Amino acid sequence: MEAATVEQLDLLLPQTQCTRCGYAGCRPYAEALAAGQADIDQCPPGGVATVTALAALLGREPKPLNPAFGAEGPRKIAVIDETVCIGCAKCLPACPVDAIVGARRQLHTVITAECSGCELCLPPCPVDCITLLVTTPATLPLATLRALAGRYRSRFLAHTARATARVRQRAERLAARGRPETGP
Ligand code: SF4
Ligand code: SF4
Ligand code: SF4
Repeated sequence: MEAATVEQLDLLLPQTQCTRCGYAGCRPYAEALAAGQADIDQCPPGGVATVTALAALLGREPKPLNPAFGAEGPRKIAVIDETVCIGCAKCLPACPVDAIVGARRQLHTVITAECSGCELCLPPCPVDCITLLVTTPATLPLATLRALAGRYRSRFLAHTARATARVRQRAERLAARGRPETGP
């Protein structure tokens, strides 16, 4: 049996980029799986369906999720309490799928149809006005997970491209002024 590629493994992952597996995102986890450095039971958003799919691809026995990485559960979305939000914009760069809209000193809101429930916007909020709302009664079937993953992947790639362009443009502006790049 040929070794599974990073691309094949990444295609099976939910693409929320939540980091609950202990890696910086879905692709880094796929890279660790391909290198034999991670186990197949580390992705709570993917749940048992994803563990089973990874096991099949890698020719291993399925196993339960490792509770050390969290539990499988219903899908959630983030909701911002606009009566508390101070418009600091600290949540914006944290969202891997650009599901939060708003500008500095303005109220922010979540585009619920695009939110993956990754929870990455919660820690940066200085006034704790983001909460998670359960939107599905139970765990999601693999077909739904795959459909959502395709959407999240596209938005994450666009988010990454925009962030990379911003860093490059800032470096170019500083270089034009004769100053070295000193940080984000
Ligand atoms: S969705 Fe799964 S593989 Fe992707 S970052 Fe979260 S835990 Fe890791
Ligand atoms: S709004 Fe928050 S929970 Fe939703 S995808 Fe963005 S960072 Fe994740
Ligand atoms: S981090 Fe919190 S307070 Fe700041 S804009 Fe986002 S939701 Fe509003």
